[in-house]
Amino acid sequence: MFVEPNIGSLSHNRSGWVEVVCGSMFSGKTEELIRRLNRALLAQQKVEIFKPTIDKRYSKKKVVSHNDNAIHSTPVDFSRDILLRSTECDVVGIDEAQFFDDDIISVVNELANQGKRVIIAGLDMDFMGKPFSPMDKLMATAEYITKVHAICMDCGKIASYSHRRTKSKQTVVLGEKDVYEALCRKCFYDKMDS
Ligand code: ZN
Repeated sequence: MFVEPNIGSLSHNRSGWVEVVCGSMFSGKTEELIRRLNRALLAQQKVEIFKPTIDKRYSKKKVVSHNDNAIHSTPVDFSRDILLRSTECDVVGIDEAQFFDDDIISVVNELANQGKRVIIAGLDMDFMGKPFSPMDKLMATAEYITKVHAICMDCGKIASYSHRRTKSKQTVVLGEKDVYEALCRKCFYDKMDS
């Protein structure tokens, strides 16, 4: 369980930081993002949540996790939009960060340098098991990284791979259990080789 660093009031301490929550599909990334944001909200901190407009699977105005635990969010087309829309807040949440352009790295750094707490959730690997840019770079520049895991849908071991059930070779194919399954290393590579 991630425990926030004991830094006192964000508004009186202008040093921000970056947290990354990464993992495969069905690993509870968004639930963990929502847990952290809800606790900040309860402490009366000003929170803004953003996600890329590409992810239109659910409600347009909400970060929605698979268990329907939702927080309102703002869809943005470009990562630069986050800077313009978060001037007043203490905590910035970013969901599905793997779908943002590479500008997100400097945007996140700028937010943290302004004294904000930035919490990023996203897929660390694509459907081929390769690092999902720009998440790899965000992880390299973050102070704190939490990797969450799913359960292998074939054998029940710890899973960190998102296997695509269809034959499409595009990096981005949106979908849920109809398109993806969480697999452990062995089951993933067994299927990739077959
Ligand atoms: Zn397995």
